[in-house]
Parts: sequence; structure tokens; C-alpha cells
Amino acid sequence: MRISEAQALIRETYHERDSERGAPLTALHLVEELGELLEAIRRGSEEDIRAEAADVFAWLLSTLDLLGVNLESAFVERYGSGCPRCGFKPCRCPPLQVGRWSGGVSDR
Ligand SMILES: [Zn+2]
Repeated sequence: MRISEAQALIRETYHERDSERGAPLTALHLVEELGELLEAIRRGSEEDIRAEAADVFAWLLSTLDLLGVNLESAFVERYGSGCPRCGFKPCRCPPLQVGRWSGGVSDR
């Protein structure tokens, strides 16, 4: 399944409910699901990780559907040629130094 097909599936399944909720609250559910994915990773449960990862993706697609953003084209535009910062595959950017991270700076 392509990303665009997944987005169409999520739209078909949840668009009405998502529209009533609106993009900000839908994005809040996405953040909640990210937290659940982190918990599953910490527990080391592959079954839970798979389920939570699917939920994160579904809520991301729901949020973007409401904003009229096609994730497949956005992803290809940003990552289709490799790292958006250095342009290489694999990335040649210096590794993110977590201990020095000051916020607002991403390694992407
Ligand atoms: Zn890079």
C-alpha cells in the first residue's frame, strides 16, 4: 500500500469524525499515540509497538487530511533525494549531540 492509499483509507474511515474534532485536537491525539508508542518501546513488546506505530501513522494521516496535506508528496519532496540537510544517502551530517541539545534544533 502506498502512503497516498493509506491516507485515502484513513479519510474514508475517519474523515467525518476528524472534521468534527478539528485539526488541533486531532494532532493532540497524535501526540498521545506517540507517548503510547514510547511506552511500548520501553516495554519491548513487539506486538504493542506494531499496534502503536500503526496508530501514530493513522493519526498523522488524519491530521494531515484535515489540513489538505498529502503526506506522500510532502515526504518525497523533503526526503526523496536523501537527507534534506546534507543531501547524502546515508546522511553525512554530524550526529546530534543529545547532551548539548538546547531545543529548537533538530538533526534533520
Ligand atoms: Zn544529513
